[in-house]
Amino acid sequence: MPELPEVEVARRNLAKWLKGQRVVRAEAERTRIFRGADPSRFEALRGRLRSAERKGKYLLLTFEKGQGLLAHLGMTGKFVRRKGEGEEPHSRARLFLASGQVIHYRDPRMFGRLLPVEAGALAQLPEVKALGRDLWLDPPSAAELQSLLGSSKKPIKLGLMDQEKVAGLGNIHAAEALFRARIFPGRSAKGLSPKEWDRLATAIHETLAFGLKETQADEVQYVEEGQIENPFLVYGRGDEPCRRCGTLIRSFAQGGRTTYYCPACQPRRVKEP
Ligand SMILES: [Zn+2]
Repeated sequence: MPELPEVEVARRNLAKWLKGQRVVRAEAERTRIFRGADPSRFEALRGRLRSAERKGKYLLLTFEKGQGLLAHLGMTGKFVRRKGEGEEPHSRARLFLASGQVIHYRDPRMFGRLLPVEAGALAQLPEVKALGRDLWLDPPSAAELQSLLGSSKKPIKLGLMDQEKVAGLGNIHAAEALFRARIFPGRSAKGLSPKEWDRLATAIHETLAFGLKETQADEVQYVEEGQIENPFLVYGRGDEPCRRCGTLIRSFAQGGRTTYYCPACQPRRVKEP
């Protein structure tokens, strides 16, 4: 599923594909991808890309003549580029380039969203304004992370996934960061020690850097699609030996999602030093 690294790669790909290119035509299927928006406004997109930015898991694109597009990839959304026109499975919207190439927004499950708006209005959209600090562009120090998340008694993993506090992590990369930091995902954020905040700040950066390195591709594959080998340390590895200590990885349900952890590396209770 797309989280910060996958969305960042989508941003880089779109910037690369649209560089020196012009959109000459656009098509949009009438699907719930455009909920709350007018698909004909997407179909009016023309000309060159002006900027491609990302905040958390949102893409903010601007084109000539003040046209803007907000995109969220949801669970299965992705942008792909094709050499020419032709059937593309699950294509929900497409941009036709002067070169003859076509950029499709593909999304089988349609939890993603495209919202064409005026370029100037993008940053003011409530869903964008609500986003917290971007964990890659503006990485918090250990102390900053603690001040953002540390007053809550809620499990630290849920705090890491709260986009209004810190933007970019989802179920996969939050579990990966906690494994790297050797912190049990169910521990209360309030109970973490300064050393643990230290390890967590570093681990988040390492997790995102690893994710970016792994996902560089013109066509990003998500683990759930079953086309690529699982690149993650604990995510999706229930009952496999921990890479660090050999103990079997376990999982439990947390906030409606499956969380993976190593019971030895990430103990439920930590003795006071
Ligand atoms: Zn372990």
